[in-house]
Amino acid sequence: MKSKETPSSLIMIFGATGDLAKRKLFPSLYHLYRKGRLGNNFAVIGTARRPWTHEELKENVKDSVLTSIGKSENIDEFVSHFYYQAHDVKNTESYIELKKLADKLDEQYSLNGNRIFYLAMAPEFFGTIAEHLKTDGLNDTKGFKRLVIEKPFGHDLESAKTLNAQIRKAFNEEEIYRIDHYLGKAMVQNIEVIRFANALFEPLWNNRYISNIQITSSEVLGVEERARYYETSGALRDMVQNHMLQMVALLAMEPPIKLSTDEIRSEKVRVFRALRPIEGDHVKEYFVRGQYGSGQIDGKDVPAYRNELNVDPASNTETFVAGKLMIDNFRWAGVPFYIRTGKRMETKSTKIVIQFKDIPMNLYYNTDHQLAPNLLVIHIQPEEGITLHLNAKKSGQHMETTPVKLNFSNTSTHGINTPEAYEKLLDDCLRGDATNFAHWDEVALSWNFVDKISEVWENKTQTEFPNYASGTMGPKASDQLLEKDGFFWWPVTDLDIDNC
Ligand code: NAD
Repeated sequence: MKSKETPSSLIMIFGATGDLAKRKLFPSLYHLYRKGRLGNNFAVIGTARRPWTHEELKENVKDSVLTSIGKSENIDEFVSHFYYQAHDVKNTESYIELKKLADKLDEQYSLNGNRIFYLAMAPEFFGTIAEHLKTDGLNDTKGFKRLVIEKPFGHDLESAKTLNAQIRKAFNEEEIYRIDHYLGKAMVQNIEVIRFANALFEPLWNNRYISNIQITSSEVLGVEERARYYETSGALRDMVQNHMLQMVALLAMEPPIKLSTDEIRSEKVRVFRALRPIEGDHVKEYFVRGQYGSGQIDGKDVPAYRNELNVDPASNTETFVAGKLMIDNFRWAGVPFYIRTGKRMETKSTKIVIQFKDIPMNLYYNTDHQLAPNLLVIHIQPEEGITLHLNAKKSGQHMETTPVKLNFSNTSTHGINTPEAYEKLLDDCLRGDATNFAHWDEVALSWNFVDKISEVWENKTQTEFPNYASGTMGPKASDQLLEKDGFFWWPVTDLDIDNC
């Protein structure tokens, strides 16, 4: 569980000149600082290849905070804790220099030997850095040592195992914080609370009352500058293996006996173990892949994926995935969990729709519609909140029903700025709470699930790519996946809180 005390710690960011550090890590650290969550006993060492000075890093941190937040009170005080060391991740000399600086700052800021190593770098360096941290003595410290690792954690189960073996030589499982930034999102964290703190939902949260669950995570952006990475990954590895499956686990897990890291993780692991493996010929029945063609977004023409910079003109990489997952246990037998995620879709939205079963018979006369099913919609981003779709009596003489919606908007209730996921995750890591990070067992089981699908896809070229136009909700086959079962994707824009 999270310690309430403000920790003292040295935070070492590998890749401090990169995009993630600039857009997410520096602003998040600043927020924590302003909220008093960092205290005064902290220091940050940024490392990367560029020969920056301490001053140059400080200027960049200031700039990133200003760009992201628009204001920067106490910024000079904040950046006075930042130091820079040019570094080559493969070079032992570099680590020895880094250790000297770390030991000096440890003394200067009374950090008690506490160290967080944040690897905000390309994944091929993760193993090398972890090994050097051990062999060159940086993690030989009397305080806590924690390794924060960005995604992707491997490319498949085999590579993930190799990476895990490398980092485990230097850190115990409890010291490894594998980032899945979806787990830091306010409404993803809210899934457990909605389920386990409301008498209303948990008794209905099973195959007797729920007909299906739909999770959509759609982006409007295309591949942007990430083509080199994305070409080797695709939507299945980039989104499904981690974020989508993590949301499934939180929706499907049994109530933990207490809210401890181990108990929650072990319930999530049981969900992954109950996931029906989809392999061989079954893949085409359960999974659909797509790749965007050209189209229009906000009235502007956008190119097809195959015409994007650094993309193979004959690329077989999927930019869209839809799938039907079955969880073969008592609670969920027979309830499909539909997931879909993709780039260049109609709207940017992450939403979960829990569709309840129809009531046994309709007693009410409705001129224009059947009785609508009850829905619970969890808005993850950009809107944050929940909506409950019910039926009520239409005003007037007749006993006619009309759909009504009860909304809770997290953003309007708690102020416009719910903390950014990275802020929460950094805060958790500083306080030693690994609940919202992926345990190795979860990573291994989810790769095992995804590998069986990618094997089939890699061996069979999709001849119909591109198969959806930019600005749409994916290929037709994605709609047919639900139609076969008598369902349809609830249109995500109609479900927006603003439309209610
Ligand atoms: P980036 O390319 O912008 O930055 C990479 C950093 O690594 C730079 O600071 C660079 O100087 C440093 N570097 C590269 N080679 C080096 C070497 N040999 N020695 C020392 N330093 C070296 O990458 P990024 O977008 O910041 O992403 C970093 C990690 O975070 C990746 O694993 C990525 O998948 C993950 N990630 C990024 C984002 C994002 O929004 N940018 C989101 C989720 C996950």
